[in-house]
Amino acid sequence: MKKMDGRNLIGYQYSAMADDILEVLSPVLKETLEGQFHIATVEETDKAMQMATEAFEIFKKTTGAQRASFLNAIADEIMNLGDILISRAVEESGLPEGRIIGERGRTVNQLRLFAKVAEEGSWVDAAIDLAQPNREPIPKPDIRRMLVPIGPVVVFTASNFPLAFSTAGGDTASAFAAGNPVIVKAHESHLGTNAYVAFAIQQAALKTGMPNGIFSSLNGTGPGLGQRLAKHPLTKAIAFTGSFGAGKALFDVAAQREEPIPVFAEMGSINPVLLCEDALKNRGTTIAKQYAGSVTLGVGQFCTNPGLLIGTESPELDHFINELSNQIKDIAPSVMLNEGICMNYERNKNHILNLAGVQLESQSGNSPKENEGRPAVASVSGTAFLQEPALCEEIFGPFALVVKCETEVVLSEVIDKLKGQLTATIMAEESEMEKYESLINKLQTRVGRILFNGVPTGVEVCHSMQHGGPFPATTDARFTSVGTAAINRFARPLAFQNWPKGLLPDELKDENPLGIWRTIDGVFTK
Ligand code: NAP
Repeated sequence: MKKMDGRNLIGYQYSAMADDILEVLSPVLKETLEGQFHIATVEETDKAMQMATEAFEIFKKTTGAQRASFLNAIADEIMNLGDILISRAVEESGLPEGRIIGERGRTVNQLRLFAKVAEEGSWVDAAIDLAQPNREPIPKPDIRRMLVPIGPVVVFTASNFPLAFSTAGGDTASAFAAGNPVIVKAHESHLGTNAYVAFAIQQAALKTGMPNGIFSSLNGTGPGLGQRLAKHPLTKAIAFTGSFGAGKALFDVAAQREEPIPVFAEMGSINPVLLCEDALKNRGTTIAKQYAGSVTLGVGQFCTNPGLLIGTESPELDHFINELSNQIKDIAPSVMLNEGICMNYERNKNHILNLAGVQLESQSGNSPKENEGRPAVASVSGTAFLQEPALCEEIFGPFALVVKCETEVVLSEVIDKLKGQLTATIMAEESEMEKYESLINKLQTRVGRILFNGVPTGVEVCHSMQHGGPFPATTDARFTSVGTAAINRFARPLAFQNWPKGLLPDELKDENPLGIWRTIDGVFTK
């Protein structure tokens, strides 16, 4: 069987009703790669959504253990693809082999982690209130609530994580773990990688006896297929990672539908870093090295890239900027994810550099070749920053802006001006945290994750991770797209009142046959 099939995968069947095709231009080889990917028609989209809706009726009744074996089988099948997956992802994304191998490890671990969550079962957050028939003045009913899946989830795969935030990435893994079918809108940058991983999911579904239609993968453009999926009456939720423009467009479409649906869009973030005085005094050079690495990691193509470094004017801040500049000079330009993203980077960076008061501090000593992003660092005074809204916008690539605040008041105003972010970082000595307390409190209102002494890049996949933040970082700050809590995006609470005991789901039965954690009359118990 062909593992990289350019047709759309609809349930277990491949389909190519239209002659219109997409091809992938490798940013690194600068040539069109093997594979013609057929654009999904309206009919094919309808079929995928219809089959997903029918599969949901079966899939939602599967046990956590069955979903776990499906998720583990996807992980196995991805590993079984071997080197062809790695080489295709490298050619399509321009990311180095080591990074892609690491990302495959993360993807597989993520699937296995969600398998454990599904199997363990306590994620359903079961709460039981026992009846009190003799309560005065009125009897209390028996009420039992748990989380249940919501139905077909449309996943938009991300350009900057061809594996971990794509076809079988965190969105898909969490949607499956909760019991929802998934329809993937493949990213045009890595259609071949998508086809390989879609094949792996298909194989895993077949081997573990999952209902036909539980997974489909469709090729197409954003304005065509993307919009159609968002508007489709059978879509129950959307997961997205990408630009503010596309995320907000999807959010608006979803809100205007006859039946509005949730859109979990993770969009831009500049991840501010507060550089405190004593930390700069004691270890300015070390911090500069750390940040040169973080700003340029993955050619700056991370949503947690630290794009804004803020401090008060001082010889120590100047020393830090010098050290950072020296580091940046020595970092070579690298290939970006695609031609468009590289062009956006250079255009947006140049736009910023031409704004009043912005000074280029340094850039990579090597000139960039085709599709390469050139690392750069610039500075601006706090007062000039306050006058220019464009300086608050994400520059997706290896770029950072240092804001030199003239006074503590200006520093405070700069922080006031920041929009919602995924992260903020405090580079400080513990002894000076009190001095910065009010600024840190303000930052906490604007972010999903706040770090003490570190870099925001490198997002751990674990139970406590929060990868989300107030708008415009995401469209719903109450949820995370990384870590096990991501499952909550694709579930809703359902309460059973005075339900016949024998007909209750296992999660809510008196004898707790699944042995999950739940509350009974407000007390945690197994
Ligand atoms: P994108 O333009 O936001 O596209 C992401 C996905 O959404 C693609 O599948 C795209 O389809 C689709 N799409 C675009 N516009 C749409 C619309 N109006 N309605 C429905 N679907 C739509 O992101 P990208 O292609 O990955 O990169 C473009 C820029 O986004 C980058 O230069 C960067 O600034 C930003 N970005 C940010 C992050 C982050 O984590 N902060 C990550 C990735 C990208 P098409 O491919 O057909 O357009």
